[in-house]
Amino acid sequence: MTLITHILRAVGLACTLILAAPPGGALVYAQTSEVGTSKHPIIDSRMTDKEVFEALDPKCPDDIRKRQKVVKLKYYSTDGKIHRGQLVIDKDLVKDIKKVFKLALKERFPIYSVIPVSDHRFRKDGRWDDDLSMAGNNTSGFNYREITGGGRLSNHAYGRAIDINTFLNPYIKGDIVLPRGAKYDPGIAGTLTAGHPVVRVFLELGWDWGGNWTSRPDYQHFEKPLKK
Ligand SMILES: [Zn+2]
Repeated sequence: MTLITHILRAVGLACTLILAAPPGGALVYAQTSEVGTSKHPIIDSRMTDKEVFEALDPKCPDDIRKRQKVVKLKYYSTDGKIHRGQLVIDKDLVKDIKKVFKLALKERFPIYSVIPVSDHRFRKDGRWDDDLSMAGNNTSGFNYREITGGGRLSNHAYGRAIDINTFLNPYIKGDIVLPRGAKYDPGIAGTLTAGHPVVRVFLELGWDWGGNWTSRPDYQHFEKPLKK
């Protein structure tokens, strides 16, 4: 046999093995092929709808809960790989969010993780905990809660707001920086700045950016409130 024939036979054999792999064999295939690509993203969140809304604040009205959609999103992450996560958002805003994430991926704007706040890592005393999600540099949308500092419901309570890369894009009010220990440094990739393509596309779609709130900037926050 010539060398070429040997190579062709070896390739043919490899293909046969992949095609003949049993369902359990898919894992072997995933490990040996490149993971972290658009075709084989690293999965950061794969929750069922039931899991996503588990331990939701019982005060959340049913009509609000029923408007929420769980959206699968791909993004370029801080490790230079493509990841896939899940965002919970009002059904009317799904199209906007998909547009923003498509642009963020194209621009290679790193997004650390997109995991619903109901994930066990972000629970405290059995409830969804925004502080834990923020400290984790996580990106999330719907959460039936009041605004930071309290007093009224946040747009997150309606699924009409999203926080992105929370540790890189903190909320700042005087000496208070949330999450604690965070620092706003526009030089770090994943930080949102005025004029950044991700900020621009949100504004074009009619969203407000918390980074423009000069007295207490909330760099991570975008919202599109219902028109009164
Ligand atoms: Zn927010």
